[in-house]
Amino acid sequence: MIKITTIIGARPQFIKAATVSRAIAQQVQSGQPRPIKETIIHTGQHFDDNMSEVFFRELEIPKPDYNLGIGGGTYGQNTGRMIEAIEGALINEKPNWVVVYGDTDSTLAGALAAAKLHIPVAHVEAGLRSYNRIMPEEVNRILADQLSTVLFCPTETAVNNLKKEGFPHELASDSHQLITNVGDVMYDAALFYAARAEEKSRIMQTLKLEPKNFVLATIHRAENTDDPTRLRGIMEALNQIAKEIPVVLPMHPRTKKKLGINDSIQGEKPFLKDGTPFIIDPVGYLDMIMLEKNAKVIITDSGGVQKEAYFHGVPCVTVRDETEWVELVEVGANVLARAQSDNIVAAFQHMQDRPIQARRLYGDGNSAEQILEKLFSTNRLLQKS
Ligand code: UDP
Repeated sequence: MIKITTIIGARPQFIKAATVSRAIAQQVQSGQPRPIKETIIHTGQHFDDNMSEVFFRELEIPKPDYNLGIGGGTYGQNTGRMIEAIEGALINEKPNWVVVYGDTDSTLAGALAAAKLHIPVAHVEAGLRSYNRIMPEEVNRILADQLSTVLFCPTETAVNNLKKEGFPHELASDSHQLITNVGDVMYDAALFYAARAEEKSRIMQTLKLEPKNFVLATIHRAENTDDPTRLRGIMEALNQIAKEIPVVLPMHPRTKKKLGINDSIQGEKPFLKDGTPFIIDPVGYLDMIMLEKNAKVIITDSGGVQKEAYFHGVPCVTVRDETEWVELVEVGANVLARAQSDNIVAAFQHMQDRPIQARRLYGDGNSAEQILEKLFSTNRLLQKS
């Protein structure tokens, strides 16, 4: 029996972990002679229905075994409380692996708690770098990589970033760390859930949107929301673009708070007169896929949404000074725009009719299966040594 403890807490992690949980469930159902058990710890970083519950329901993620309910504090308070609570759960569970995803406080707390208990850590989405340590995410991912035994990179760029930092080469047999490019679990998710989204989502009808005749925008990154000048620049740009074409803006709680918008916006139209962005509450993943697929352009500061734009063949403007997903910029699918109104509007105009060529940048859509295989094979190696 191999026991895996999955640590998640924030929206993008639910989506990433859903792919591996699904692969585990398939493994169990297929009756293969490799018993496996997954335990899920939800730290509580995101807890609203539309930031957490909806993903468990729609993506059929097993209910968490532990709900730590930790959120709302400073980075230090949250991370400290998470480490303590995760440590307790891991002492209880004694897993063979702790699997952490991405770059949040939950990622770091999970990796640190496990490493100190000598439980091997697997980091999914390892090796990404923005080279901007102002970002809390950058600090979390650098430390999580250091603490991990297996580093599951989503791209060759990520593998090379790790090599540059002195991590061992891929599959180096004499190393205590294993780096491997398994592709991106978010691509697995985009492929798998696209058909379900077509069948189940009604968001296009509800919002009365016409395909390829609206812009989808998401803004939530602290570097944008916590800087009033940047946030004003972004909102001015979206206002300006909304005079040309409808702009749909599912708004993250952090952004709402900074803009002083009341808790729930319910998608009616308190927001606004015609010609300004259509602000709605955050949507579930299936609705998000439909919005992404049908958008003419996506404007975002999200890591995941940048890639999903590409998966669905939609040009993207990323409102950041740098990106971890540099290959998207290299192939012309994405353009970076500083968070100033004129830059964003110009980038939108530049991208709006741009054809996006499909290439194989993020694997073949079977990352989760590869991750599972590697966890089994590395577990055998660890037990021998
Ligand atoms: N997402 C969603 N509903 C929304 C906004 C985003 O389901 O209203 C999904 C999106 O499709 C992507 C993930 O959330 O899969 C991205 O999460 P987020 O932007 O919060 O974090 P990041 O990717 O920047 O870490």
